[in-house]
Amino acid sequence: MENSIQMFDVIVIGAGIMGSCTAYQTSKHNQKTLLLEQFDFLHHRGSSHGESRTIRATYPEDYYPKMVLKSETLWREAEEEVGYKVYFKTSQFDCGPSDHKALKAVISSCEKNSIPFRVVDHHTVVQEFHQLIQLPENSIGVVTEYGGVIKPTKAVSMFQTLAIKNGAFLKDNMEVVEINKDSLRGGVLVSVKSGEEFWGKKCVVTVGPWMKKLVENVSGVVLPIQPLETTVMYWKIKQGYESKFTIDNGFPTFASYGEPYIYGTPSLEYPGLIKIPVHGGRPCEPTERTWAPTVTLDPLRKWIHEVFEGLVDSTRPVMTQSCMYSVTPDEDYVIDFLGGEFGEDVVIAGGFSGNGFKMGPIVGKILADLVMDGETKDVELMHFRIERFEKNPKGNLKNFDDQVRRKRKVKR
Ligand SMILES: Cc1cc2nc3c(=O)[nH]c(=O)nc-3n(C[C@H](O)[C@H](O)[C@H](O)COP(=O)(O)OP(=O)(O)OC[C@H]3O[C@@H](n4cnc5c(N)ncnc54)[C@H](O)[C@@H]3O)c2cc1C
Repeated sequence: MENSIQMFDVIVIGAGIMGSCTAYQTSKHNQKTLLLEQFDFLHHRGSSHGESRTIRATYPEDYYPKMVLKSETLWREAEEEVGYKVYFKTSQFDCGPSDHKALKAVISSCEKNSIPFRVVDHHTVVQEFHQLIQLPENSIGVVTEYGGVIKPTKAVSMFQTLAIKNGAFLKDNMEVVEINKDSLRGGVLVSVKSGEEFWGKKCVVTVGPWMKKLVENVSGVVLPIQPLETTVMYWKIKQGYESKFTIDNGFPTFASYGEPYIYGTPSLEYPGLIKIPVHGGRPCEPTERTWAPTVTLDPLRKWIHEVFEGLVDSTRPVMTQSCMYSVTPDEDYVIDFLGGEFGEDVVIAGGFSGNGFKMGPIVGKILADLVMDGETKDVELMHFRIERFEKNPKGNLKNFDDQVRRKRKVKR
């Protein structure tokens, strides 16, 4: 058995967008790569499935926009390599009360990162979006050109396809149960539930909502990453107006700062429907989900009615889908070496707090850099280190409120 163990330069655990992008990057750099997934590839039980994710450069934290721009370039490169599209560009519209701290921080962050933007008020918004969007008198909107929709399942499949093309080995239905330091050869031994074992010089853990549990099991390190069940909601557009809410008609991806934070994408994946969910959910264990809707509908209904003035039926969503976020206390990512006995042999990336999909390609590049070179020149990782929670359990300090709305956990 010992002699027949399969050996790799890099073993990536978890084939959501982060793991798939990482396997693509490491295999592209001639690293013998193994990507292990606990369920079927492209399953719907994690965070990276579905039909649409927003890409936007408008973040209140000024360290994200540059990552988005780098990621955007990598999205385009991958599309070119594979020969089909997963990213559909439009503008991004962020709105909210004019004194909302996070929205004001978005404006400062655009300025600091030289992201061109226009501010509109309740008068000028009407011309900006062909009278489809209305704002209350005390609200403003911020329009930037860096918006768009990414098709998640198709995008994950794209990176897996490219990784295979580069020579990576992909295995699904392989639940990793142990990662151990190999004290004889160096590197790590990765064991799956069926008993198979693989050796890796380096290992990358991108297991999304399963991160806290797996990392605690293998290393004792307790990461404050909380899985949340969230609900995607689609609403019906009034008959005769369906084509108005499309990218072809200049309709933007959008976010509304306030209580609750609401976001949405143009009508694309299901003609006649528009996606408008609440950014939040209910704490859960990934293995114990209710699969039930997670939001109180009234504030969302009211918002839809006021902003789209009856052009979208706000009675009830006509379709819902369940998904999971992995939220950190400061809503910043965790991208770091695991440390301890694993030192720099194991790299982890999680806690993407409901906004990581767009970053998949740049995160994959960072993780590949970390396992190949021990550092990355692409992004300053200071805000993503594990040690921030040792200094302060809440993590990075911010002068605006959280965006993700967290409901109470369901008692079973
Ligand atoms: C409804 C919804 C809307 C969102 N909207 C946006 C958006 O508009 N824009 C945006 O940028 N982001 C958005 N996000 C966030 C984004 O989708 C996530 O940040 C991203 O998909 C996280 O990817 P991941 O690879 O870290 O996790 P996952 O996709 O969950 O992948 C982790 C994988 O690891 C596997 N795994 C777990 N444990 C093991 C194990 N022991 N062994 C082997 N495999 C294992 C899991 O099965 C899973 O496939 C949204 C998320 C949701 C749920």
